Amino acid sequence: MAVIVQKFGGTSVADTAKIRAAAQRALDAQSQGHQVVMVVSAMGKSTDRLVDLAAELTETPPSRDMDMLLSTGEQVSVALVSMAIHEMGGKAFSMTGSQLGIATDSHHTKAKILTIAGDRIREKLDSGHIVVACGFQGIDPEGNITTLGRGGSDTSAVALAAALRPSQCIIHTDVDGVYTTDPRVAKDASKLPEISFEEMLELAGMGAGVMHSRSIEIGKRYGIPIYVRCSFNENPGSWIYTHPGTPRRPVSGAALLRNESRVTVLGVPDVPGAARTIFSGIAKKNVAVDMIVQNASDDGRTEISFTVQKGDFSDTLSAAKAAADELGASGIDFENDVAKISIVGLGMADTPGVAAKMFQTLADAGINILMITTSEIKVSVLVAKTDAEQALQAVHSAFGLHELGAAEADANPDYFQAGSGAVSVDDLAKELDTDTADRSGEHVEQVSMDAIRLHDGQSLVSIAGVPDEPGFAARVFGQIAAAGINVDMIVQDAGVGGKANIGFTVEREQLDDCVALLEKMTAEQSLGAITSRREIAKLSVAGVGLRSHTDIADRLFNALANAQVNVALINTSEVLINVLVSLNEAEKAQAALKQEFADVLIGD
Ligand code: ASP
Ligand code: MG
Repeated sequence: MAVIVQKFGGTSVADTAKIRAAAQRALDAQSQGHQVVMVVSAMGKSTDRLVDLAAELTETPPSRDMDMLLSTGEQVSVALVSMAIHEMGGKAFSMTGSQLGIATDSHHTKAKILTIAGDRIREKLDSGHIVVACGFQGIDPEGNITTLGRGGSDTSAVALAAALRPSQCIIHTDVDGVYTTDPRVAKDASKLPEISFEEMLELAGMGAGVMHSRSIEIGKRYGIPIYVRCSFNENPGSWIYTHPGTPRRPVSGAALLRNESRVTVLGVPDVPGAARTIFSGIAKKNVAVDMIVQNASDDGRTEISFTVQKGDFSDTLSAAKAAADELGASGIDFENDVAKISIVGLGMADTPGVAAKMFQTLADAGINILMITTSEIKVSVLVAKTDAEQALQAVHSAFGLHELGAAEADANPDYFQAGSGAVSVDDLAKELDTDTADRSGEHVEQVSMDAIRLHDGQSLVSIAGVPDEPGFAARVFGQIAAAGINVDMIVQDAGVGGKANIGFTVEREQLDDCVALLEKMTAEQSLGAITSRREIAKLSVAGVGLRSHTDIADRLFNALANAQVNVALINTSEVLINVLVSLNEAEKAQAALKQEFADVLIGD
């Protein structure tokens, strides 16, 4: 029988009336013939209160005690929910993380789930109980209580669904679903009927998502359909799922990540291993690096820019300084009050001119772009923090995102079953090729790579020393798009000293046309020096957990450096890492990566 995991966040169990309503939803799903596991967060803001209590005693609570403390919030909730179900005439069984068999690693306050032993849960489900599970917690190999990081109940819920396949997961929260952007910033954001895992990951990773991003990683890895809906009304919500019919929109959403810092290592010798030296030092400090931009080399020296969360800035700066000294780089530049705006869409690569349109929109609003990176499904730009909200709003409107959700819901009225929010898991399993192979031995949150692919038909074009002012990227990429030239990866670096460098790739057969066009533009308006490299190849590493496991970028640069491969251009996102290398080194580079990641590569 199919299992439905219903997760209830803190606001959905904030008082006993809400607890009764949550219990009713579980009983309803059970009476429709499903086996039901509820995953419950701590009531209301109780986890915050526990954090505050600890802070009254010490600035540095031992992390093991912190987990002992924080895990109590969920234990209160499951007991009360189970009592409510009993009182309403149902059968319920409350369980803590260790009783559920949720085994984690030992990283207190940010543990990752290793395995879930489903047998005890199955036994209770088979005897007609609703299992009421503590979210957010598990147990490490020594028997210590662990927690998964703030907001981690989503991750518990999807991981339980993965352990109990075939299954689906319903997330009950205080918003109606997944929106095209943060409705607090753009009042006209629209609710999407469905969105792919990949898009959701890119959005969740930027703080715009309603969900803990590790939960989406698990959903993608195990193919668990996730439905996000509101606890307090019967409105239809949003599906997060990727299937053959998932809409491939050029742009599905836009997101804003505030409080970024940009660091640039200047004058880096352009030799194999430079990126490794920089990023391994930062990885050792456990800092997740966000946008990474390395531009094409100028006189054997290059600049490597990247962004981190502002809270990680001082750790990052000291690591970057040490790396710069070791490499003999010429210095460091940084900027603190910056924000990242991104657009995400599964069909972006099939629609020429999306990036150009974003740049034009920002230019029309008089907003200067400080840095650019693109991947197949995402364009990100860095702007001054003071421009951020205006930039987000402008981009959201330019792509018509305010109308997107309603238009799709109208076109597909049967998509939802309003009310229960559940589609039949059995039907889903029939319709979609659900993977129900026994994967019980593997680690639920381990990194996995679908593929390490080589694209060998591209060339690199670079424009050096362009004026760092609004409208430049818009002009260049607008004209390139108008000439029917397809641009793939774009990077623009930081514009240190008032000048920026732009690098991008085009199909090799369009290289000459592209260079000719740029030269013509140079004659009419000042561009920087144009150079190109005909023989370039792109290596794309696609997978899950590439960023949540901070060692991956480090391992990648290490493997390339050990193989003596020089990296010409880099960009990264949640689900992809792209590097450009010389065509004649491409196969060697691909082999080195396949060997390095053999343990986590599940595709070709
Ligand atoms: N109660 C935990 C927190 O507040 C876990 C969760 O709500 O997902 O972070
Ligand atoms: Mg919560």
